[in-house]
Amino acid sequence: MKDMKILKEMDPHIPLIITSLCNNNCLFCTCKLLCGSRGDLNSINPSTEKVKIAIKNAFYKTRNANDRILKLTGGEVTIRPDFLDLISFAKKVGFERIRIMTNGRKFADKKFLKEAIKRGLNCFDFALHDSDRESHERITRVPGSFRETVSGIKNCATFSSNSNIKMEIGVNTIINKFNCSRLLKIGVFLHNLGIKRWALMELFPGGKPEDSFGTYREFAPNLIELSLYLNNHLDRFAHLINQIDLHDFPWCLFEPKIFKMKNIIFANILNKRDYSQSKIIGPSPKTEVTKKSENRKITIPHNPEKTKFYFCEKCIYFGDCTGIMKYYFKLFGNKEIKILAQKHNLLRQ
Ligand code: SF4
Repeated sequence: MKDMKILKEMDPHIPLIITSLCNNNCLFCTCKLLCGSRGDLNSINPSTEKVKIAIKNAFYKTRNANDRILKLTGGEVTIRPDFLDLISFAKKVGFERIRIMTNGRKFADKKFLKEAIKRGLNCFDFALHDSDRESHERITRVPGSFRETVSGIKNCATFSSNSNIKMEIGVNTIINKFNCSRLLKIGVFLHNLGIKRWALMELFPGGKPEDSFGTYREFAPNLIELSLYLNNHLDRFAHLINQIDLHDFPWCLFEPKIFKMKNIIFANILNKRDYSQSKIIGPSPKTEVTKKSENRKITIPHNPEKTKFYFCEKCIYFGDCTGIMKYYFKLFGNKEIKILAQKHNLLRQ
C-alpha cells in the first residue's frame, strides 16, 4: 500500500505576500485571518521599496536553485498601483519565471494582461471556485467577479496559444459543500478553458477570526460524502488535465486507485516547500514546531489548523498526512475519518 503513494516535490517557490488588499471579499481569505490579529486590512501593504528589497533578497537566496521562480501573492497583487513596475523589477533582477496568485479579474482587460506579460509575468494561479456563477460568487461576495475571472483566464489562455511566450496557467479551487458534487463539471469546464494544472484545496477556516468558525460550518462538506465525490469524479476527469494537485486533504479520503494516478500530486506542509518558506513582508504566523527527538531539538513544518488522532498513529500515511482540520473535529468529531481509514484499509493492527 505504501508504495502506491505519489509524492512529488513542488516547484521551489519563494512566495512573497505583498498586499492584503483585494477587489474580492472572499470568505476564506487567509489575509483576513492574518490581518484580524493585526487589526486592519491595510496592515500588509508594504511600500514599493520594501517589496523590491524582498524580491532582490529572494533572488540572492535562491542563487543555487535549479529552478528559480518568484511567487507574488496577497490579497490581490494586480490591484497594487505599482504591480507592473514590480514585475519589470523582478525581471530585471533576474527572475525568468514570475508567478502570481490572482483572482484574475484585472486580466479581463486584455491591454493590462498584455503589458504584464510583456514585462515578464509568465505564470498564473487563478482562483476560481466553480464553473457556476452563483457558487463562485457565494465565496467571493462580489457580483460580476465570476464573469471577470473567467474572461481573465480566457484572455490568458488565448494569449498563450497565440504567442511564443512560454506561459503556465493553473486554477486553484477551494472544495466545499456547494461545489464538491460538481467536480466533474468543473474539471470539464477548466479543460475547455485550456487549463493544464488544477489545484483542489481543502476548505480551511479563513476570513475574519470572529466569523471563521461559523463560515467553516456553513461550507464544510461531510468527509464521507467528499471522499465519494473525489474518488468518483477524479477518476473521470483526471485524464483531461495534465496535472492535478490535491492540497492538504487527509489522505484517508482517497482510494488506492487515486494514489496510482500519475498526474496527481499530493501536497501539504510536509512536502510543499512554499508553505514553510513563504514570507509576509512583516511578521508571519508560526508554521514550524520544534520537537525533541533523541535528545536533540528538530524543527519540522507544522500546520497549526490541523490535528491527528490516536488511531492515526497506526495509519500507513501517518508520517506524510497532516490530519484533519481542527474546526472539523470540533464540529463533527473524528468518527468519519476513522470510518474512512478503516474502509481504505490504512490502519495497521
Ligand atoms: S487516519 Fe489520520 S494519518 Fe491516516 S490519512 Fe487519515 S487523518 Fe491522515
